[in-house]
Amino acid sequence: SWFDFNQLMQDMIEDLQRTTEKHQIITELNPIGQVYADKDRISQVLTNLITNAIKYSPDADQIIVQAEIVDNEVMVCVKDFGIGISHDKTDKVFEQFYRVSGDKQHTFPGLGLGLYISSEIIKREGGRIWVNSVQGKGSTFCFSLPIKQ
Ligand code: ATP
Ligand code: MG
Repeated sequence: SWFDFNQLMQDMIEDLQRTTEKHQIITELNPIGQVYADKDRISQVLTNLITNAIKYSPDADQIIVQAEIVDNEVMVCVKDFGIGISHDKTDKVFEQFYRVSGDKQHTFPGLGLGLYISSEIIKREGGRIWVNSVQGKGSTFCFSLPIKQ
């Protein structure tokens, strides 16, 4: 159904901000307006990306969430300055049960399902999901959603 995209993002970020004292979730949200999609599923994707950004940046404090319209698509990006992912593993993180093992200082609990589920949801909505990451520097996960008329 139709929902107010900025309202959803703001509500979710407010909730997720309450789960962390260390991290500051910074928003750069352009006005998106009404979007036709499965609101609960889109919430799930946003939650997965933002909780990952929190979990995988134990030594950084900023997370940036951006939303804009590019070429008739909504584009959302979640940027962190955490552990990052090595280049050869960036495609694999969307596979079921795939996890990159932690470094010597950190272990991170998880099942390796969040990104798989997110990619299935985004595909079903007709969008795309991808990541740019530099190991040791951070990651930017983005997804797009087509705007229906
Ligand atoms: P869960 O099923 O609880 O989400 P998970 O977080 O391990 O467990 P995914 O969210 O699917 O699973 O992520 C898969 C793997 O991709 C993670 O184990 C981690 O190695 C890597 N990853 C995901 N997000 C990030 C990120 N923001 N920074 C660095 N690595 C990440
Ligand atoms: Mg996860």
